[in-house]
Amino acid sequence: MDDLRRFCQLLPKIELHAHLNGCIRTSTFRQLLSSTADQLRLDALDKEFQSGDTHARMANVFEKFALLRSCVTNLDEIRRITRETLEDFITDHIIYVELRTRPRSFDNGAIPMSSYVEAILETMKQYENQICSRLILSIDRTQTVDQAMETLKLAERYRPNVVGLDLSGDPNVKSFEHFLPVFNLAKQMNLSTTIHIGELPDAECLRENDLILDFKPSRLGHFNFRTNEQEQRVIKEQIPLEICPTSNLLTMKLANLTEHHFNLFHTRRHPLAICTDDSGLMDCCLSSEIYDLVQSFRITKEEICELMLQTCNLIFDKNQIDFCQTKLKEFLTNI
Ligand SMILES: [Zn+2]
Repeated sequence: MDDLRRFCQLLPKIELHAHLNGCIRTSTFRQLLSSTADQLRLDALDKEFQSGDTHARMANVFEKFALLRSCVTNLDEIRRITRETLEDFITDHIIYVELRTRPRSFDNGAIPMSSYVEAILETMKQYENQICSRLILSIDRTQTVDQAMETLKLAERYRPNVVGLDLSGDPNVKSFEHFLPVFNLAKQMNLSTTIHIGELPDAECLRENDLILDFKPSRLGHFNFRTNEQEQRVIKEQIPLEICPTSNLLTMKLANLTEHHFNLFHTRRHPLAICTDDSGLMDCCLSSEIYDLVQSFRITKEEICELMLQTCNLIFDKNQIDFCQTKLKEFLTNI
């Protein structure tokens, strides 16, 4: 292994954009698929993904999520996915993670959404000596406002271990406007927010970007497609960005990472977090994401450390900033 790759692996890292279900190990995903039809569908989706454009690839990822959702049927399975994700992150030297998930119930509501949240939080607690993990609750773009409000209430109930609210899901559904009252309420309650923005290259998506920027969430996810004006606004207002190289590369269909908007923001010293999005489904890890960026943009070790130190300021649990920065500084003095 070359020196730089090893450095990226050993560097204490912060992961701020990871969908719990998307982190599932491929082997676990395969095991949870009960029918042969589902197995074959997953094979077909894997194959189709290679040739699609942005819209087709997005649809593909969401079909995979739906398939996964249909085969996770009880709390033990969600505990297993959480446990394996945390173990993989510990192996990758991640010291602080914010996992995000959309709360769900099982057995037609007999096992309520609160049990789902508790199952994840309890699993996180078992690993607290090895990794500091917090939860962000996701609102799906296809949900109703009432459902979103219920998610907000759950987030409030499980603070401080739940640290924020996310908007994600199929970007064809332009529903941010619809959820604005819920996100405004979150802001009033001092709950941090992160919104997936600019995921599709269409006019409607660009229009929605403006609404999201008017709201000014605590952080933005992706920001792949945007106008020059929107780009300038994010820089001027210093709204932090969560950048997910492999995921963006695949869904934007870029030839390689040098075309990625990372450098545009990095060279302006914009607040950034490098993240994995769906490490299981995208088959990546945070070390390799950082390594690939470093290689593509010829970034020095000093610059990566500086970047990681500023990422610490973007975490939603502000009580852990010191812990993260101290760990990083300790690492730096020992290399
Ligand atoms: Zn995402």
